[in-house]
Amino acid sequence: MAVLVTGGAGYIGSHTVAALLDAGEEVVIVDNLEKGHRQAVLGGKLYVGDLRDAAFLDGVFRENAIDAVIHFAAYSLVGESMTEPAKYYDNNLHGTLILLEKMREYGADKIVFSSTAATYGEPEQVPIKETDKTEPTSVYGETKLAMERLMRWFETAHGIRYVSLRYFNAAGAHESGRIGEDHDPETHLIPVILQVPLGKRDQVAIFGDDYPTEDGTCIRDYLHVSDLADAHLLALDRLRSGGASDIYNLGSGQGYSVQEMLEVARRVTGHPIPAAVQPRRAGDPAVLIASSEKAKRELGWQPKRDRLEEIVASAWNWHKQHPDGYEE
Ligand code: UDP
Repeated sequence: MAVLVTGGAGYIGSHTVAALLDAGEEVVIVDNLEKGHRQAVLGGKLYVGDLRDAAFLDGVFRENAIDAVIHFAAYSLVGESMTEPAKYYDNNLHGTLILLEKMREYGADKIVFSSTAATYGEPEQVPIKETDKTEPTSVYGETKLAMERLMRWFETAHGIRYVSLRYFNAAGAHESGRIGEDHDPETHLIPVILQVPLGKRDQVAIFGDDYPTEDGTCIRDYLHVSDLADAHLLALDRLRSGGASDIYNLGSGQGYSVQEMLEVARRVTGHPIPAAVQPRRAGDPAVLIASSEKAKRELGWQPKRDRLEEIVASAWNWHKQHPDGYEE
């Protein structure tokens, strides 16, 4: 039986495909390559197309014995979602709906879902627990929460079990240096910071220094992308051994401010990396830190690359070797 990975040519998707291949799984990948990269797919069978194209997706299910899906394909930028809500609702929800319909039709009854800390919105407490209230402050978070709920109703109606993984901030790159983060335009903090020592940008914009945090900049919980990938395999194991649907946070449990991230990147790269304060970015909560105790307890998950220096160094290793990302 094969595992279908949607969005498998993207950043977290490609690292999960690599982990699945290492584990000897048969992998089928669907990606429209709008954001993803063909070269990021290290193996398996890649189909280029859009989830919203039901006829295309039907062909993928017809040609492969798919028993489980890992669903990454979605738009994922908080800032952009605030100015283009329709784009986010259409791709994220409509795509998931067509996918679930095909799963139902072809009897694929397990799905591991790429969710996000953005489903919580401004936290009531940190570290955030899965039982905390979900009131997204961004359209992106709202669509991911709606996707989780969609899966819940599909389970009730059609018995498709799911594990939803609410990630905090994915960072770093594969230890081989072959795959890593490559967005165009790049908006994520660590790759943006590393563009300065790469000579692609003069300075970093710090989005707001008037948040209620010690240095006034936003605090996030950064987690190595390969540790995230491992959690998807454990979630799949859980579903395959008959485990019930559930939701898990994935983070390191440690929070770092934008200023602290800059300091770490300066140490790792040996570059002064100038930065300047700019206005806040819409939709950004001040502090997001995960409690991942439930994932550790119930999935047996344990992040292995948990030093921030190590995470930033792995990103730097990838970007130095691929200053233009996957472009030749
Ligand atoms: N950030 C920043 N400057 C940038 C990019 C990001 O100050 O050029 C901040 C952003 O406001 C957030 C944190 O860095 O507080 C992480 O942002 P990123 O976009 O990497 O991830 P997100 O938390 O949105 O998933």
